[in-house]
Amino acid sequence: MGGQAQGPRPSAIGQALLAISDQWTLLILQRAFLLRTKRFADWRDDLGMSESVLSNRLKELVAGGLLLPSPYREEGRTRTEYLLTEQARELWPLLVHVWSWERAWVPRRAGLPELVHETCGNRTDVELGCAACGGAPVTARDTETLRGEATFAQVAVPRLHRKTVRVNAEDDPLSYFPETFELLGDRWGTVLLAAAFLGVRRFADFQAELGVAPSVLSNRLRRFTELGVLTTDESEGGRPRYRLTDKGLAFFGVFAFLIDWAQRWYTGPPGTDLRLLHRACGKPFQPYLRCLSCGEPLERPAVAFLVGADGELRPAASTG
Ligand SMILES: [Zn+2]
Ligand SMILES: [Zn+2]
Repeated sequence: MGGQAQGPRPSAIGQALLAISDQWTLLILQRAFLLRTKRFADWRDDLGMSESVLSNRLKELVAGGLLLPSPYREEGRTRTEYLLTEQARELWPLLVHVWSWERAWVPRRAGLPELVHETCGNRTDVELGCAACGGAPVTARDTETLRGEATFAQVAVPRLHRKTVRVNAEDDPLSYFPETFELLGDRWGTVLLAAAFLGVRRFADFQAELGVAPSVLSNRLRRFTELGVLTTDESEGGRPRYRLTDKGLAFFGVFAFLIDWAQRWYTGPPGTDLRLLHRACGKPFQPYLRCLSCGEPLERPAVAFLVGADGELRPAASTG
């Protein structure tokens, strides 16, 4: 993909994280999905972003193949709008799963939008299924992770941007809660979580896997413990072991969609592959979302989100 390669090429997941693990990038994509936003001024006004940050992110999204610039005429002038590419549209289930996780696990002042499944007419939630065998629900415990020989040092990627704090994010009815960004919008956060899903439990093992400075690692482990994503129990020698809580395990679906998407769109060096197997069918796990009310697979055109204080119904964007 675009950009000049420096150092070893990251794994497919590393490249995927490079493309999307940024707060503003995720919010730009979310608005494009949910509100059909495709013009500079609309993102700027809706997200309260500075113009320089917004134009920087749009450039990256175009270079990374996630947005397609398209000219349109307005008041006699040619302007540009940005359309979701097929690669970006495949992130839809990941973003819906983030919504579902926040709804279940993150208390917040402003209520999240509600998902309406138009096929059955219910306000509903989603669950994860395996498209290879049709089985659902599938949890982290129902899968097995297969990996190459590489460590996560090749998954982790340097952060492209300094973190910026978003003001009033909690009052934004569509916003991803800051907790989500700690799990998904922070490179060490995401690989730490990936390692935890792989069964890594001890400080020294995390350190060996991630190749991260001890201070950074202990900071993230403490944060994840505070967030209730990890919990500790003492074991041999009084050293803590870190385990995923139910809240942490529930993030598995997002992780599964991330791996699935990464492997369809990026290629990493040999040995850096990560694959999930669905134990029940023995096949590679192909995540899909299904409606908790009627059990049917969720397709984007049949899903709407109720947003806004007035409960105004806006269809999920199906343009592209
Ligand atoms: Zn299966
Ligand atoms: Zn349904």
